[in-house]
Amino acid sequence: MTESSSDKLIEALRKAVSRTSMLAEGNDPKLDSVVRQIRQAITKGADANEIQDVLNAAEPLLIQSDEAQLSRAKQVRNCLQDLIELLEKQNTSSVPQNEKKQLEAQIRINWQVSSQWPHLLKGFLSLAEKTLVQTEHNPSKSSFLKRFFNRETQVITPKNDQEIMVQISHTLAGLTNNLMLPSHYDDDISDLNKALLGNNNLQQLPALLDEVINLIMVAIGKTQENLTNYLNQLNKQLASINESITSSYHSQKSLSESREGFNTKLQQQVTNTSQAVKGASDLDSLKALIDDRLSTISTTMSEYRTQMLRQEKHATQSITQLKNKVTRMEKDTASLRSLLQEKLAQAMTDSLTDLPNRTAYQDAILPLCKIMQKTQKPICLAVCDIDHFKKVNDTWGHLAGDKVLRLVPKQIRSILSKEDLMFRYGGEEFVIVFPELTLTQATERAEAIRLAVAKTPFNMQGEPVSISVSIGIAELIPQEEPESLFARADKQLYLAKESGRNKVMVNK
Ligand code: GH3
Ligand code: MG
Ligand code: MG
Repeated sequence: MTESSSDKLIEALRKAVSRTSMLAEGNDPKLDSVVRQIRQAITKGADANEIQDVLNAAEPLLIQSDEAQLSRAKQVRNCLQDLIELLEKQNTSSVPQNEKKQLEAQIRINWQVSSQWPHLLKGFLSLAEKTLVQTEHNPSKSSFLKRFFNRETQVITPKNDQEIMVQISHTLAGLTNNLMLPSHYDDDISDLNKALLGNNNLQQLPALLDEVINLIMVAIGKTQENLTNYLNQLNKQLASINESITSSYHSQKSLSESREGFNTKLQQQVTNTSQAVKGASDLDSLKALIDDRLSTISTTMSEYRTQMLRQEKHATQSITQLKNKVTRMEKDTASLRSLLQEKLAQAMTDSLTDLPNRTAYQDAILPLCKIMQKTQKPICLAVCDIDHFKKVNDTWGHLAGDKVLRLVPKQIRSILSKEDLMFRYGGEEFVIVFPELTLTQATERAEAIRLAVAKTPFNMQGEPVSISVSIGIAELIPQEEPESLFARADKQLYLAKESGRNKVMVNK
């Protein structure tokens, strides 16, 4: 057997024991308490040792209860035998022997089975009827008991009649005393016994006998059966309430903690209810008890609802706070991004001339050269340096020098096309890149630059001052690195300076 199927079997046995134990209740208060202990131990899932202890404690009481049951059964058997004898003693008619034997056989087989007692009693009544119907003295169709005990028919002599009355009444009173009914039947039993023992009116005996039968029916578990059915129904209802709450609750994912608390509480209430129901002895008190329990459960549910609402509110607040945080973070990120871009742009720009600086040149030149090499288009690079700039600083001051540094690129820019790129490489030195220009075209443009700068009269403290630039130029050759292209152009610049400045020298 697999572990899970043996678990299921154990679980099924636990339930079966728990349910059947309920049927044992109502016979003896002491035994009831032990039975309840057994059921509780089983229901709460106690281990084998714990259950064994409870069973050991229960054993003497169970034996005692068995003995009491046996003694009750013996009394019923004797009582029935007395009644049959009594029937035979009456001298008006003879008892049908076949039926009598059948009844005696039934008694022998079933005297220990309490649920059969009413049938045995009915069997006796039927035998009595058959016996008395034979008499021609009494053709009345009224109740056989009336016929049996009717003085006017003279079926039984008054002396016999009285004796029989006393005997029957005592036997029945003895029987009711041994029924072991719940205590709230005490008054009924005592009234019935008084009526039986004080009765000398045969007319009343059928009604009294009916009462005895009713009490026997109660004693063998008619009420217990009702209780059990009611209990089962109730358990099912509570289980279904629990299930629907649990399943609706399952859909609320984030609230596992309170779910567990709630489930445990509800489960506890259901268990308490079941136990209390098992302990209740009649339907009215049982119903009152159930009402009470259901109202407790309803309170728990409303507490649960309130808690849910509180938690939902809390969750909504948390979500709003979270949303606000995210929005704030998005804003921060955006402003940080633009700040970063600004700083990056700053880092790439020369603040004096607003031209892209050496860093920007180094970032741009490699990809540019790669594209041109790939597309097999020409690209030329010019290094342009202001001639004798130190002298400007020395003669008119540093601020005048700065002014020249701002004006020269403006002149250069006026010559460039919008595809051409200019960088302040450092000091008074500029790099100009001519994408897609051949060396000849680039040289022409460089020459135009040189001329434009040279022609511009720079005004220093009211005096016109001539400024010139020297330019070295080279064209990118296949597979060449940008550093090599720069070095070749720079070399031409050096040559231009060497050959007297204000010149464009080309690496051919
Ligand atoms: P050459 O014709 O050989 O290039 O002579 P030069 O005087 O231009 O060259 P040199 O390298 O001797 O001097 C460059 C000067 O440029 C030195 C430095 O003080 C000045 N300089 C560099 N950057 C700036 C700047 O931002 N502002 C000013 N005012 N001067 C600068
Ligand atoms: Mg210079
Ligand atoms: Mg220089």
